[in-house]
Amino acid sequence: MNPDVLVVGGGPAGSAAAHWLARDGHAVMVVEKKEYPREKTCGDGLTPRAIHQLAEMGFDFGVGDFHRVTGLRSYAGELCLEMEWPEHPIYPNWGGVIRRAALDSQVALLAEKQGVLVRQHTEAKPVLDEGRIAAVELTSHGETEVIHPRFVVVADGSLSRFGRALGAVRDKRRPFGLAARAYFKSPMSTDGFMESQLNLHDAAGHTVPGYGWVFPMGDGTVNIGVGVLSTYHRWKDLNTTTLMEAMVVSAPPHWEVTAASQLDESRGGKLPMSFSVGPLVGRNWVLVGDAAGAINPFNGEGIAYAYETGRIAARHVGAAIGSDDTARLWGYHDEIHGTYDSYYRVARAFVRAIGRPGVMKVLTRTGLRNRTLMEWTLRVMSNLMREDERHLAETAYGMIEAIVKAGPEP
Ligand SMILES: Cc1cc2nc3c(=O)[nH]c(=O)nc-3n(C[C@H](O)[C@H](O)[C@H](O)COP(=O)(O)OP(=O)(O)OC[C@H]3O[C@@H](n4cnc5c(N)ncnc54)[C@H](O)[C@@H]3O)c2cc1C
Repeated sequence: MNPDVLVVGGGPAGSAAAHWLARDGHAVMVVEKKEYPREKTCGDGLTPRAIHQLAEMGFDFGVGDFHRVTGLRSYAGELCLEMEWPEHPIYPNWGGVIRRAALDSQVALLAEKQGVLVRQHTEAKPVLDEGRIAAVELTSHGETEVIHPRFVVVADGSLSRFGRALGAVRDKRRPFGLAARAYFKSPMSTDGFMESQLNLHDAAGHTVPGYGWVFPMGDGTVNIGVGVLSTYHRWKDLNTTTLMEAMVVSAPPHWEVTAASQLDESRGGKLPMSFSVGPLVGRNWVLVGDAAGAINPFNGEGIAYAYETGRIAARHVGAAIGSDDTARLWGYHDEIHGTYDSYYRVARAFVRAIGRPGVMKVLTRTGLRNRTLMEWTLRVMSNLMREDERHLAETAYGMIEAIVKAGPEP
């Protein structure tokens, strides 16, 4: 079978792209090299932006694996602030936590219901002809076949071997994150708040830009992790395993977690951010999700941006098929830049600022004493500003800069 569109990778970005293309009547095949339910190292946290995209695809939030949360609790030492997700005309005022094995297989099923052919246990490799994907080799259980899709959506995640074979490269000047997580037993697993720890320390006791998290899974377990930014001035000295261990020791006592309650090995991964991978568009292909480096630098969130970029790509790949004009793919490039550029530019400036010595400490101390400022920051950092408030990101950044300058010398 030669589909109109081959989608490489059945994570959030691939399933969303396939879902929206099939809904518009196109013949789509998704190939996923693993088998559902497949594990994906993640914090499993969904903000209202991700919930919105899932709702649009018809996701059933009543499933047992899904745990609903109404806000974020932030800690820095003794300081603590609990904030509800804000009211917004588009996004709901709630989020969720769900294991990726359950989430991704259910979203792939939703794509299948739209008519997408989902082939699991199938790995794709491009065959190139002057930058164009002339064919794709699909290998499944040791057997290889060659197909000739008209267009390819590259959704193969942060390592993106397929994307790299096409010449996609990460812009090394842009920040990236490293994160690690593990599951723990906890009697508080039905808590209604995601929790963040803003006072991560390296082995020498310096505050590290990034945060630790405890996300309640609703099933007797919690997902605990740490995420750190490459903008840290001592980046090369960081070790996420050590940070994780310190995070568990310092986790608030209400979770009742210790090293003994850890259920699995801690696992880590890279977070490519701020559309750091490109080109986004080739002669008959586009990059989406982590393969495009779509993660939000402000908070390390990638699932919502994988759904969103998949959906935007579907629109432009669909237009290219409908008009038989591959140049229409460039609409994807333009819409991505139009939608995210100004916000991600501020986010990059922010993560550069908090990489400087002492800045993170000053910010968290000041922020957590000021509810209005923190609620505002939550809206900016999780990209939940209203259309008429887009300028808030810049204003918030300006305020944050002012706080940093007014703070004590680090
Ligand atoms: C430790 C950690 C914690 C995180 N926590 C959060 C969080 O709490 N919330 C959040 O929003 N984001 C989080 N993220 C980021 C989030 O996991 C990613 O942004 C998200 O998974 C991106 O989705 P994707 O579809 O682009 O890629 P992926 O989810 O990685 O999916 C890519 C898929 O492609 C398949 N594949 C790869 N190559 C091929 C091939 N050649 N052929 C066929 N299939 C292939 C893979 O098996 C995989 O299933 C976290 C990341 C890490 C590392």
